[in-house]
Amino acid sequence: MASLVIQTSLLGEVVLTTPLLHRLAQRGPVDVVATPQGAPLLAGHPAVRDVIVFDKRGLARGWRGLMQTARAIRWRAPGEARGTEIAYIAQRSLRSALLASVAGVPERVGFSASAGRALYTRQVAYNPDVHHAERLWSLASGPDDDVSPSAPLHPRLYPSANDHAAAASLLTSAGVASGTHLLVLAPGSVWATKRWPRYAELADALARDPRTARARLVIIGGSADGDAARAIGEHAQTAGMPLPIDATGRLPLLASAALLARAGALITNDSLPLHLASAMGTPTVAIFGPTVPTLGFGPLAPHAETLGVDSLSCRPCHAHGPDACPLGHWRCMRDLSVARVLDAVVDVMRVPR
Ligand code: SF4
Repeated sequence: MASLVIQTSLLGEVVLTTPLLHRLAQRGPVDVVATPQGAPLLAGHPAVRDVIVFDKRGLARGWRGLMQTARAIRWRAPGEARGTEIAYIAQRSLRSALLASVAGVPERVGFSASAGRALYTRQVAYNPDVHHAERLWSLASGPDDDVSPSAPLHPRLYPSANDHAAAASLLTSAGVASGTHLLVLAPGSVWATKRWPRYAELADALARDPRTARARLVIIGGSADGDAARAIGEHAQTAGMPLPIDATGRLPLLASAALLARAGALITNDSLPLHLASAMGTPTVAIFGPTVPTLGFGPLAPHAETLGVDSLSCRPCHAHGPDACPLGHWRCMRDLSVARVLDAVVDVMRVPR
């Protein structure tokens, strides 16, 4: 049975959709509708036949863009029907439900909590108590199927040889010898309140602690995270430490995933790199402030620790993280000490991979 998965939300959610894609691929070909930003994450994915790009905030904005994308779903080329029998809407937006409907896909499955549920032919409960990867995976459960997976779900990404070469080249140009232990820091997040403010101090502590001092530090993220990387670099320079390698804005997404595959551990906020590390099996220390892992977006790497200030009753205060702390003190991040994060890094590094 040919399936279509519509996933045009945040990049982390694209990664968390991959267990659903693997499940559907056992039933037949799977096409995916993704944004221009999300599509590269699925390049070379063995469960995906084709990615249809929906530039919903750019060239395909508005009704005309939706109709064009619907035509692309319907027809591979003029006169050749794509033959999609069932669409899984892996988000809760009305626009995505409309897209599947206008494209004429006969069966449309989505969450009962979706704004577009009236357009679905089958609704699936949105279980708030399980990981989001499992929620998405459950979309493919029919009335006679298991509603829970029989084994823990692991998202998967497939960087190409070129992605691995790009990661290797960046490390070589920074003078990193093969076999060097890497610790990766991801200090960014789209939401300001989710950015733990002590990465520079952590880099200092990692460089001085005998348990981690031999590792080379690498900072990853998008070009918007360049300021955070520079602040860590300036602190290192002042403290007379080896400079971390600044990879922000220098690697495509799957090359960042390739770099993570070589790393001993990732230290990250609740943001995309957390999910890239889950997909590559990289030991992860995940720092949560205004959000909490039980919202469904914690790490799925085999070895991971989640950290947060559990004593605060105001957590979580937002599904994604507010622009500013509504209480003004931002203690969910300020009260998380460098020593706690350092200990967690040492713990996840101890586990053999
Ligand atoms: S209200 Fe609490 S959880 Fe929200 S940002 Fe402020 S300190 Fe963090």
